[in-house]
Amino acid sequence: MNDAVLSPPPPGAPGGPRVLLEVFGCQMNKLDAELMVRALRKAGYDFTDRDEEADAVLLVTCSIRDQAEHRVRSHLGTLSVQKRERPHLAVGVLGCMAQREGRDLLDRWPALDFVAGTRDFPQVASILDRVRADAVRVLAVDGDPLVPEDRDLAVRPDRARAFVNVMRGCDKPCTYCVVPRTRGPELGRPMVDIVAEVSALVDDGVVEVTLLGQTVNAWGRREGRSLGELLYRLQELPGLQRLRFITSHPEEMDEVLIRAMADCDKCGLFLHLPPQSGSSSVLRRMARGYTAERYREIAAQLRAAIPGVQIGADLIAGFCGETDADHALSLQLLRDVRFSQAFCFRYSPRPGTPAFGRLRDDVPEAVKRRRLLELQALQNEIQLKRHRGMVGEVHRVLVEGGSQRRPELLFGRNLAFDRIVFDGGARAADLAGRFADVRITSATALTLTGSIVAAEPAPSSSPSDRAQVAHVAALA
Ligand code: SAM
Ligand code: SF4
Repeated sequence: MNDAVLSPPPPGAPGGPRVLLEVFGCQMNKLDAELMVRALRKAGYDFTDRDEEADAVLLVTCSIRDQAEHRVRSHLGTLSVQKRERPHLAVGVLGCMAQREGRDLLDRWPALDFVAGTRDFPQVASILDRVRADAVRVLAVDGDPLVPEDRDLAVRPDRARAFVNVMRGCDKPCTYCVVPRTRGPELGRPMVDIVAEVSALVDDGVVEVTLLGQTVNAWGRREGRSLGELLYRLQELPGLQRLRFITSHPEEMDEVLIRAMADCDKCGLFLHLPPQSGSSSVLRRMARGYTAERYREIAAQLRAAIPGVQIGADLIAGFCGETDADHALSLQLLRDVRFSQAFCFRYSPRPGTPAFGRLRDDVPEAVKRRRLLELQALQNEIQLKRHRGMVGEVHRVLVEGGSQRRPELLFGRNLAFDRIVFDGGARAADLAGRFADVRITSATALTLTGSIVAAEPAPSSSPSDRAQVAHVAALA
């Protein structure tokens, strides 16, 4: 996930003090930033994406690996210098790093005006008001776990796609992970609230909704429900065309959910289901609650029940006690499951996690790096083979916008979440947020490139993706 200054800046209150909002980390942070924009705009703040224009710089932070925190620390270094020249500049740190470090952050960074945790960002506007009016420093890390999911339809960053939280926090005991500490215990939202939010988004032009949760497929478990029931309910909403959910935990997959994924034709043919390791003994030390064999069974069950489904992985290289033999088992898992994508990370010990206190970070950095490169190289081979097999096929993509690396091209994603870059031709300017049929003409391990075959006049009048399969097959 890329770090990003919100650019172009969201609509604010013209003439108000200008805030530059910089978001690090995952989709949840992006959605939290959207909720902050609402609160700030309501309180009369405007936004900018230029450092020199900003009256306040707010960093929405991530703690998942040390590298993520390091980027924030170096940013704070730059802001400290700027603040010497512009003493009126207010600086705030919000989100996971704020929650994890709290007062220590204020003590270490004299230029920092406030620290607001993962349940305190709804108060961002009143905190900023106080900081600016009274020149006080504020620490807020004890917010109500019931975070209001108030969103303002007018400030949505993408007109066609939206994230919707179905839960906050996490109750899993994964020994390497800081999330339960930074985001607190799991708290699910009632179905009625989620359906109301998705309906309002769809009425406002959204065609693709991604449900968010750290263990999204555990939604409803405490009330004896399954995420599958929510999928069936959302499938009924006219106007909604694509439905995704991230991230799923292997231990929480259930029959109803698998059936719903097979039955609901709006549901994406992609499941992000991180195994973390291919070695059962490493998985035991990670406290993931399943073995590598069980993971393979779940993957096979998914493929048998949902034709065409793709599975995405996260894998950690060099967790405490990981041997070369364990690492070989992770490589073997990649070969066996043939994920359509895999995010691989070097293990980063996080203070406050169970592993930090109990297990020794005994894999040398150079070995972690080598194992990471091996995982990535193998995954690239697997992806290249799959991508080459797709050349000549026509895929229906929801166009997301201009490609960052090649701005003359557009990109979109198909139902299986593959990213496809293509030349939009004469109609490129008005294709964002619409569906287009794209023939794949070339492939690398990381990119599928294509050319447009047909585009739809208006997304809201289109049938769902899977209903288009016959049409797309005919074009191919
Ligand atoms: N909740 C999701 C799950 O259980 O799969 C994802 C949580 S986390 C935000 C995203 C990924 O970061 C994890 O799947 C894991 O691979 C990786 N991760 C978490 N803690 C890590 C650590 N200490 N070092 C390296 N990678 C880590
Ligand atoms: Fe972290 Fe595990 Fe929770 Fe995912 S399920 S957020 S890896 S503790």
